[in-house]
Order: sequence, then C-alpha cells, then structure tokens
Amino acid sequence: MRERRSNFLVFGSPAIGEEEIAEVVATLRSGWLGTGPRVARFEKAFRAYVGSAHAVALNSCTAGLHLALNALGIGPGDEVVTTPLTFSATANVIVHVGATPVFADVDPQTMNLNPNAVAAALTSRTRAILPVHFAGRPCDMDALLSLARRRAVAVVEDAAHATEARFRGRPIGSLGDLTCFSFYVTKNLVTGEGGMLTTDREEWADAIRIRSLHGISRDAWKRYSAEGFQPYDTLYPGYKYNMTDLQAALGLLQLARLESNLAIRERHWRRYDEAFTGHPLLTIPAPVDPRDRHARHLYTLLLDVDHAGMTRNELVTRLKAENIGTGIHFTALHLHTYYAQTYCYRRGQFPVTEFIGERTFSLPLSAKLTDEDVEDVIAAVRRVLGP
Ligand SMILES: *Cc1c(COP(=O)(O)O)cnc(C)c1O
Repeated sequence: MRERRSNFLVFGSPAIGEEEIAEVVATLRSGWLGTGPRVARFEKAFRAYVGSAHAVALNSCTAGLHLALNALGIGPGDEVVTTPLTFSATANVIVHVGATPVFADVDPQTMNLNPNAVAAALTSRTRAILPVHFAGRPCDMDALLSLARRRAVAVVEDAAHATEARFRGRPIGSLGDLTCFSFYVTKNLVTGEGGMLTTDREEWADAIRIRSLHGISRDAWKRYSAEGFQPYDTLYPGYKYNMTDLQAALGLLQLARLESNLAIRERHWRRYDEAFTGHPLLTIPAPVDPRDRHARHLYTLLLDVDHAGMTRNELVTRLKAENIGTGIHFTALHLHTYYAQTYCYRRGQFPVTEFIGERTFSLPLSAKLTDEDVEDVIAAVRRVLGP
C-alpha cells in the first residue's frame, strides 16, 4: 500500500501561474491599484464568457447576492426561498436586506433545490427564489424559471461553485434574472477575494454598479484619471463592494485558464469516481445529465455512518492525521444557531439536507493537484475506511 503523505495537502489551494504573478506586479507598477482599466477588461471578458449583457465586478459573491436583492427592492415583509444545503452567505444576505429566508429541501441525487419543494414554499410574500448550483452542478433552470415566471418572482442565482456550468448548453449567468459568481481563494476562478454579478437588464446593472461604490454617480477612475475632473453626487446610500485592479489582474489570467483548469479537475474527478465506485461505505456524486455541464467545483462523497464505525467528523479528523485536508459542504444551515433560533427551524424539517449534512465530505479537487496528490488522497481514504 502507498505510504502516508509526508506533507499536508491543503483543501482548495488555488492554481496560480507565473503569468498571474507577473500581471499583479505589472498592476502594482502601473500606479493604479483601485477599480480601473483592468476591472473594465475583466468585466468585458467575463460577459463574453457567460454570454450576459452586463457584468459587474465586485469584492465577493456575497456582495453580489446582497446587491441583487437590494436592487430588486426586496426588504422587510418579503420572503426569499433558498436551499439549506449551502454556505451561510446565501441566507445571510436575505437577512441583510430585512427579508425572511424560507428554506426548501434539496433533491437527494443532484443536491440542488427540489422544484416541488420550492413550489410548496412559495407564498404571497415570496419575492425571489435563490438557488445554489451545488458543487458546480446546474440546477433545473427550466423548472425554477417557469415556477418563478408563473408567480412573478425573481430568480437570483448563487453560482459561487458554477462559473463553467451550463444548463442544456446555455451558460449559467445567462439564464436567471441576476447571477452571482465567487472568486474566493478556493473557487474555480480565484482573485483572492472577488465576485461578479451578471444580468441582461441594464437598469439593474446600472443600479448595482452605483450601489457597489457608495452609491455615487462617478467612480474614482473617472474622477482622477486623465478624463478630467467630474464632481460626484450621492444617488443612494451605497456600499463598498467594488473590485480592484489588483484582483482583476488575477481574474483576467484565471479566466484565460478556466477551461484548461476545468479539464484537469475533470480528470481528477474521473479518477475519484473510478476509485470509489462500489465502495461499500461511500456514495459517489450522481452522474451529470449529459445535456448539462458540471463545473466540477466539489467532489463530495457521502459516508455510510451506520456501518462505517465512525462519524463523518471522525473520518475528517482521521484524514487530517493522514495529511489530507478535506471540506464539509455543507452542514444543514437551518440548524445553525441563528437560523434555528430566529426562525424556529427544527431537525426533521428538511430531511434530505440533514441526511447529506451528516454524511458529506469533500476531497481536494483543485487544478493545482498532481495525479500523485490524487493517488495520496485515494490511498488515505482506503487506509481509513478499507479498500
Ligand atoms: C463561497 C460561497 C459563497 C460566498 O462567496 P464569497 O465570494 O466568499 O462571498 C456563497 N455561496 C456559496 C454556495 C459559496 O460556496
């Protein structure tokens, strides 16, 4: 059997090339670090990549989700339906605008929002549906969009995992009303911290751009560059959510290698599938619908906790002792203290999410991983759980 790995394999370590490093240095030398020409180029390239009319670069996906709900005028008394199998940020932004997060359960195979559960959760107060393309697998956008259109509610997508995903051939970011991407350090495209919001509606894009930078009428590039002096006006008490040129420098080159990085993760994914198919204690991710494209952000396995002789948390601890870092995506959000206490959510309300939340763990899947790293991960899982 393969020996224990000698150094710790960090979960989600990004693949950053020499070109990215050189471009960041060039940005530092350019004298313009803030929101400027590189952000504009990154937005243009991203718009072309997903095929949306508008793209607004921001400092996070969370900022994008917040601004999307804010620009839609969602606030106190309104409800937004979302998944409890997600990161805290997805529901936190609903609270930030003063609205009520309403959870609906996921499908056990896709781990995405179950459209029937969404339909059952809609009320006269619902203003938006906020799906997450879990792990990079596109949601059933036909079902969610037709539901939303029938009830005249918006669809705001959390595409933090899904930059390269396509539903029935169409890129995520070109389908819903507003879509938010994350460029956080562990995500498929990395800018350190960063995000992008795409939409086809000019009025939303304009409002969001203004609100992302204090709500003022002209950004700093236009105020201080050679284009000449322009006084600014405050149109809205906005936020400080803009992306900087330093981040866009990384983003431009990360976008250029997005497809080749995806191909590497697809290779690692196939190797994990091959290694763990039929393992008596593990359930591998469901195959992707051949009409869709999975962005391969997270390789999540489910542990059979009834027969493994250990909990998922014990497994993760033992993998750490084998020098393998893993992630947990996610523990059921409705049972987190704030949501359980504030909205009286209880165990048993979303059984599929709870089942997944107790069993799921994610293996390293970065494009930075070598084939040797992947073999180390597989050997460690086998040492802990048996062949
Ligand atoms: C990472 C993540 C976010 C937040 O992204 P940031 O860019 O860090 O704000 C939101 N939703 C999901 C599902 C995520 O995984």
